[in-house]
Amino acid sequence: MRVAIDERHTSVTNLSRSRRRDNPAEESTSSEAMSPSSKASRRALIKGVDISPEVRVSLYAQQRYLPLDFSRKSGLLLPFVTYFQDPFVAKEDPAVGFDRKAYVQWEPGLMDGPTSARFAVVDYNADTGMLEPPAKWDEQLQQFTGGDGSRLDERAARTFAFHQVNVWVLLQRALAFFEDGSGLGRRVPWAFEGNRLIVVPHAGYGENAYYDRRSKSLQFYYFGSEADTIFTCLSTDIVCHEFGHAVLDGVRPFLNESSSLETAAFHEFMGDLTAILLTLRNNSLRRQEADATQGDISKSETLSSIAEEFGNAVQGRPYLRTARNPHKMWEVVNETDPHRMSEVLTGAMFDVLMRLAEHYSENPADHAGDSDAEAQPKSPRQVFWRSADRMQRMAIQPLDLLPPVEVTFRDYALAVCRSQKLADPIDPHGYYDMLIEVFRKRGILSVKDARELKEPRYLNERLRLSVHHSIDDISRSLAAAYRFLDDNREDLLIPANRDFFVADLYDAKKRARQNAPLPRQIVLQYLWREEVLLDGPQFGRFNALTTTMLCGGTLVFDDNGNVLSWAMKPGSIPYGGKRQRGGKIRAQWDDAVRQGEARRHALLENVAAQVAAGRIGTVAGSEKGLLGSQAAPMTAEVAGNDLVRFQLSPHLQLLGDRQKHAAEETGARRWQISC
Ligand SMILES: [Zn+2]
Repeated sequence: MRVAIDERHTSVTNLSRSRRRDNPAEESTSSEAMSPSSKASRRALIKGVDISPEVRVSLYAQQRYLPLDFSRKSGLLLPFVTYFQDPFVAKEDPAVGFDRKAYVQWEPGLMDGPTSARFAVVDYNADTGMLEPPAKWDEQLQQFTGGDGSRLDERAARTFAFHQVNVWVLLQRALAFFEDGSGLGRRVPWAFEGNRLIVVPHAGYGENAYYDRRSKSLQFYYFGSEADTIFTCLSTDIVCHEFGHAVLDGVRPFLNESSSLETAAFHEFMGDLTAILLTLRNNSLRRQEADATQGDISKSETLSSIAEEFGNAVQGRPYLRTARNPHKMWEVVNETDPHRMSEVLTGAMFDVLMRLAEHYSENPADHAGDSDAEAQPKSPRQVFWRSADRMQRMAIQPLDLLPPVEVTFRDYALAVCRSQKLADPIDPHGYYDMLIEVFRKRGILSVKDARELKEPRYLNERLRLSVHHSIDDISRSLAAAYRFLDDNREDLLIPANRDFFVADLYDAKKRARQNAPLPRQIVLQYLWREEVLLDGPQFGRFNALTTTMLCGGTLVFDDNGNVLSWAMKPGSIPYGGKRQRGGKIRAQWDDAVRQGEARRHALLENVAAQVAAGRIGTVAGSEKGLLGSQAAPMTAEVAGNDLVRFQLSPHLQLLGDRQKHAAEETGARRWQISC
């Protein structure tokens, strides 16, 4: 039996392209940035807020412009009770047990489940075939309740209804974090058709959790004994980690068509980064950590430790992974587990966070300009808040600058540096150099990279183009963007005889410090495929088949048509046009083809290595549509007689090779299919 879990709550309207061009959803500034006097005056204004449901609907679209206190008191922001971290942390340290002020933006369409515009919680258990009753939306209370109308506070923490609401609240908040102007400054699309991500809080028994594009779902498993069950849906870190996969898959859907372990590791990094930044974003938890560590972020294990309860139960250590690690690129060149490789980049971004916090605590007057507060020594709480605020911009905004395919750690590092340059060209505090130094120390950027990044240059270089199109024309539609690219193939390093396509086109309104708007960004992604023959016994059962290498670029323009960023993954085929120019453009092409050849070589090596390690499986999935706890790290799809397409596991997960090693030790099967 196959249960159509995606149809019960979701009446899906596919607006894919047009939806991506929605207005961005910036949240209003936090009250922490307000001075005491402005806080007091706002409080006086909103005393006794009492608005009708009709007025609330009309205010809803403007919520981001309204004061936080007003939004809370008028029910535009609704409070829920969730675990801060997970039940294990709650038990060990009740001070960080339950978050009773987990605010979520009210939406007109809230329904049982919970179901909202972008999520539908469907509590279906594939092992037992049971569908748990959904949490009920009580219009009168403006709250979700248990089936019997009971309140879902910490006393209900053991009920499945509480679990359903807990996971939904975390996801609503995580989505708002990404869509905020300090994040991507636009609506986040999903990588699948449809607008609701299905959330399965008790998908079955297993030590894992997944994001799975095929079933459009996040799946959370549980394990342990009946008396002491660990629910992964109750772990903030695990929920955020899986959601990080869903977001990255939405904004860069072609990353999963790859055989590169580093790209898989980048996906894992996004998961862990999301967990860390969302922990830091939580006001109560952040204040608590700031007080406990006296403003020293390096001492906060709550921040640097990912999935405490899970790590404790499964690996017998106080966390699953830690962001406080000394790992370098050269230590992981032969690594086969993307989760372990990801620690290098997670560690680098945690270094950045620590450097920011150090800077803020050592130079209290230095960052007075970051708020309306006058220069004065900063409290630990302020240091943490400033660090959290800037970190969101530094780590999330660069995602729009990434190339559309095969992202490496270096690509992300370059995007982070470029994004910093764009947001803060003068850079009075030297953050740009700090970023370069952190990435250099980890071996993510080379000496040459660092030298080139530090060369003095103009902020924007105009592209040399053969045929000019105005940015208004380019940004009008996918077809218009295609014509612009096609007219300028030689300039944009697209081979003359390759069919390419525009993968995405959208615009974003990001914000810089002091909530100041940055120039609108128009982001254009284009790509094409190059055939690669797998020739030799090292390719095992794929010998003599053809696979494809994805090539392409991401162009980011401002409103005036200036190119803010151009990230390229060239192919190995030369231009090949009828009329070819010499000089600078010729040199650019020669360089691109050299890079393309290196990429092709790396692809062949990757596939051979994965074949040798027996890491390539067939497309997984149980007959009920859920995944179970075993999944191959990479899959091969044979299309036709001689074409094979490799993909990262379509169900990106919390945990990787540990299972593989366990399976090998017990002599259980590998993922290699036997054909
Ligand atoms: Zn993962």
